[in-house]
Amino acid sequence: MPSLLIVDDEPSVLTSLTFLFKRHGYDVLAAEHPEKALEQVASLRDIGSLGVVISDYRMPTMSGIELLHEIAKFAPEAKRILLTAKSDLVTVMDAVNEGGLYRFLTKPCSYELLLRTVEEAFLVFNSAQENRQLNEELRQANIQLRSLSKKLEARVEHTTKELRAAIYFDRLTGLPSIELMHDRLAVAIQSAIRSAQTITVIYIGIENFSLINENLGHKIGNDLLCAFAARLEALIWEGDSAGRMHGDRFALIISNTAPGEPANELITRLLGLLQQPFQIGEQQIYLDANFGIAFFPEDGSSPQALLSHAEVAMHQARKDPDASYRFYSEDINRQSNERFILHSQIRAALENGEFKVHYQPRINVITGKIIGVEALLRWQHPERGLLPPAEFLYALEETGLIRQAGEWVLNEVCKSVVEWQAEVGHSLHVAVNVSPIQLKAGDFRDLVEKAIEHSKLDLSKTTLELEITENIFLSDMEQVREQLNSLRQMGIKIAIDDFGTGYSSLSYLIKLPIHYLKIDRTFVIDITKSRDAKAIVRAITSLAQSLRLQVVAEGIETEDQLEAMRTLDCEEFQGFLFSRPVSADAMRQLLIANSRNDSSNGKLFKNQDNSEEQFYV
Ligand code: C2E
Ligand code: MG
Ligand code: MG
Repeated sequence: MPSLLIVDDEPSVLTSLTFLFKRHGYDVLAAEHPEKALEQVASLRDIGSLGVVISDYRMPTMSGIELLHEIAKFAPEAKRILLTAKSDLVTVMDAVNEGGLYRFLTKPCSYELLLRTVEEAFLVFNSAQENRQLNEELRQANIQLRSLSKKLEARVEHTTKELRAAIYFDRLTGLPSIELMHDRLAVAIQSAIRSAQTITVIYIGIENFSLINENLGHKIGNDLLCAFAARLEALIWEGDSAGRMHGDRFALIISNTAPGEPANELITRLLGLLQQPFQIGEQQIYLDANFGIAFFPEDGSSPQALLSHAEVAMHQARKDPDASYRFYSEDINRQSNERFILHSQIRAALENGEFKVHYQPRINVITGKIIGVEALLRWQHPERGLLPPAEFLYALEETGLIRQAGEWVLNEVCKSVVEWQAEVGHSLHVAVNVSPIQLKAGDFRDLVEKAIEHSKLDLSKTTLELEITENIFLSDMEQVREQLNSLRQMGIKIAIDDFGTGYSSLSYLIKLPIHYLKIDRTFVIDITKSRDAKAIVRAITSLAQSLRLQVVAEGIETEDQLEAMRTLDCEEFQGFLFSRPVSADAMRQLLIANSRNDSSNGKLFKNQDNSEEQFYV
């Protein structure tokens, strides 16, 4: 509690005032002359605890005003009250006006007034104290805040740095990230423009990296990526950049190459990088990678364009088993343009009736007689000549036009077979290739049914066989099963084409209504030379026998191959040995000649004019 100092040289006044205020609970200090008062003030432990001073004006050694001025030097906050006679009024008022006093009271003064004034003075003092305290707290809080915000700033700066590092550098390998590579390429482009130089951007994809992760574990996978990154960094000059784009994809930015300077030297170094194995712990691992190369300014003017073109070139290299790198500009641009042109040409071809169906006979191995035909699609291109499916089938599939083309083939085949049937007089077998896209379309069964109805194909005389490849079973098995079952119910037979080259499980052979297996040409080629090929064909024929499936060999070109097939109990074959695919007209004549020829002696009847119009590729 703050104290009240009372100064009066009149002992009775001093005593009675002291008594009065003590009685009202004040902490009173009493001084009978100014010196004593100053002494008491000086001896206070806490000068701020002096709240109010009441002083008499007239005192022998010092006036009340002088004393209060003195006290103010020590305790400026204390509220000072002067007790004075009326005669001193002018002097006192001046002192009040100067701001040196809080109040003055004239004698005689009632106790009530005195008490009230002192009480008010304490209130003012206390609230000033509180204010000061609050201000002090505020000041402290400000100091703390300032230091906190400094710390915060430092932390933000640190985190920003960390964040920048995380964004701009790959955590695992420490190489620049895709973001930094974009930035650096942008800078390199600006400087290449100024100095009329070119930039080489190389996109690198490690092959089969997921297999390494799966088989050797992620730890080794990560170590391998780091080792690869280190080799890349060692390969480039200072000022060039090697970065990790994501996963097993990296990129190089080689700036300041002079225009026309060949990238061969760099590519040789890149290829050399993979010739040595990577030693990861106990393991020695060889890596395979593909590179795609794009140049500034030829192949793009922005970082995005250059990096994505280099990536496209890398994907092209991946597709080509004979190349591990590709230049973007050299052929990919052309290829993608060609693809675009092909897409529009093929649409027109369908409308202009440029497609044809050729037929290849299917022969009974024992009798050597034609038992049927396989329909094979051709495109009579106005400029490029007769094209085989390898040239355009993918475009038909990519554009979805395969459904339209496939429907046309079905109608065309059914129509021709009905005509031939009437002429040869015996039953025929006709096989049509079907793309997965056709089979998966909901209306496929209806299209087949319509083709049969329109052509009046008699399924009791003609076997209609649809050839599908094993890869169809990688997709929705249930849907395929439904489609095939409903086709079977119509009396249609199903063959698995190119058998042995797909990746699916063989269990489908039991679950699905399949009648024929067509052994792929790749096994036939080697059958006379390789024991393994022979063993595979033997395994296929015995599997077929036990599942009561018939086997057709594709691509028989020599008598030896045919003989080998005979010994392996293969019942039917196709191949250039007997006939290449021929036009519908030529096929008709071949069928008529074949039906007249009596080859019961087992001697093979061959197509005399065994040629298909030259393909222009
Ligand atoms: P595929 O169904 O396996 O047809 C057999 C391919 O082997 C045909 O090629 C044929 O000309 C060729 N070939 C036959 N015998 C021999 C031989 O002794 N030696 C050699 N080297 N080749 C032989 P083509 O006509 O180029 O057809 C390729 C593939 O295109 C076909 O393979 C088939 O999968 C597909 N295809 C053909 N026509 C159609 C069609 O109308 N629709 C669909 N979706 N695909 C078709
Ligand atoms: Mg086929
Ligand atoms: Mg085939």
